[in-house]
Amino acid sequence: MPLHDFRCRECDKTFERLVRSDTRVSCPACGSEQVDKLLSAPQPPGRSKSIIAAGRAAAAREGHFSNYSAAERAKIK
Ligand SMILES: [Zn+2]
Repeated sequence: MPLHDFRCRECDKTFERLVRSDTRVSCPACGSEQVDKLLSAPQPPGRSKSIIAAGRAAAAREGHFSNYSAAERAKIK
């Protein structure tokens, strides 16, 4: 699951998200889904892996499902 950079079209905030192709990404600042995926420099593999692992661990710990698709979230709820 790749880590991507996004920029919000509404408030111009940039942020990183772990996304799957069918995941909707919304801005953490204003909640808009009008975000553009940025083409960022590739992460070093070691760092990227640790970020992904940390992201998954945090998601599990906090009980939010931003790394899941909308269809998967619908089932969970
Ligand atoms: Zn925004």
